[in-house]
Amino acid sequence: MSELRDFVAQLVERHGAAAEPLEADRLEVLAPQPLQKALGWPELVELSFGANRPARAIPIGLEGDWLDRFGALLGEHGRWAERQLGPKGAPEAPGSPERVLDHALDLPNAVWRLRGQTATCTRCLMLAFRYSALSDEKREGLLWIGFNLATGAVLDEVMARMQPLLAAEQWQAPDPDIRRKAGPRWEPAVLQARARAQLDHRIRLELEPFLRATRRRLERDRNRVHEYHEDLREASIKRLAALNGARGEKPEADRRREQLRVAAIEREYQAKLDDLRHHYAMRVVVEWVQALELYVPVQRFDVLIRRRKAERHIRLDWHPLVRMIEPPPCEWGLGIKRTRLVCDDKLHLTEPAGQAPCQACARPWCRACSPARCPRCGAAAS
Ligand SMILES: [Zn+2]
Ligand SMILES: [Zn+2]
Repeated sequence: MSELRDFVAQLVERHGAAAEPLEADRLEVLAPQPLQKALGWPELVELSFGANRPARAIPIGLEGDWLDRFGALLGEHGRWAERQLGPKGAPEAPGSPERVLDHALDLPNAVWRLRGQTATCTRCLMLAFRYSALSDEKREGLLWIGFNLATGAVLDEVMARMQPLLAAEQWQAPDPDIRRKAGPRWEPAVLQARARAQLDHRIRLELEPFLRATRRRLERDRNRVHEYHEDLREASIKRLAALNGARGEKPEADRRREQLRVAAIEREYQAKLDDLRHHYAMRVVVEWVQALELYVPVQRFDVLIRRRKAERHIRLDWHPLVRMIEPPPCEWGLGIKRTRLVCDDKLHLTEPAGQAPCQACARPWCRACSPARCPRCGAAAS
């Protein structure tokens, strides 16, 4: 719990308190009046974050409403931050750029050539989202998505490897020169579209096991309900069959009663299915928590792409901090994997599905050139 203690110490110090760590995960706080009022504390208070606590100390933990109260104190602070990472000076370069690129680029219908390499810096954006999925059970989590704003690359893996560095390295405010050199931010609409697509994909991945388990429970309950009602119905049908051919007032009344019973069983079965649907319906809420703009050194490769007679330049960054190259740019699709097809007209790089044949006329077309419909027959993109 000492992480929580350090967090609380820093937070209350920001609000004018003096905080003194004591042994056994305790914290002594001298709180100014506004803070006393906000948190319901006396002027001098002892907080305990561990299991063993003296009677005078207030227990603080992840349970209860303390996190909400600290959150209220935090307000909108800390939603956005920027920092620079890595040593000053020229970034390290990979030993064999061609080999690195060979690993990064998989272009089945085009060729590439390395045209140049520059030591520079880039602006990355990391966005944190909290999600919660609620059905008959609940799952919650935090996930990060990241982009290199200069090259457009998705940085899932690079970011994952950078996380330990973020925790270990001293916080460095970005140098104004570096900030200028790193290039502009994205337009809000571009950022929103790209973030939404990545987020959708990642949340689906994260929730897949939970969804599968929920579906299994639903299936099990549905089978049970079905079996139970099917047995009842079959018994009634059998009784009806036995009455077949019998005449007179009593068999007629019995037949009528069984028919009503079958109808009632069917109604009850439908109602039980509705209950199950309601019980297992899943609601997923995703909330943006934090944005971090990160300035990092990179080796930028200038790569010439050639498809038939046409050519085009693209840029890919190698990240010396994690010794890793990012995936190539992608103008249609998520761009997480490294295979790209190149289109004939504008040499767009897309995921293979972005050049797939049209479902109506069977001719391939580039979804980056024409996102909504096939340019040949006008069929809508699926
Ligand atoms: Zn078509
Ligand atoms: Zn295209």
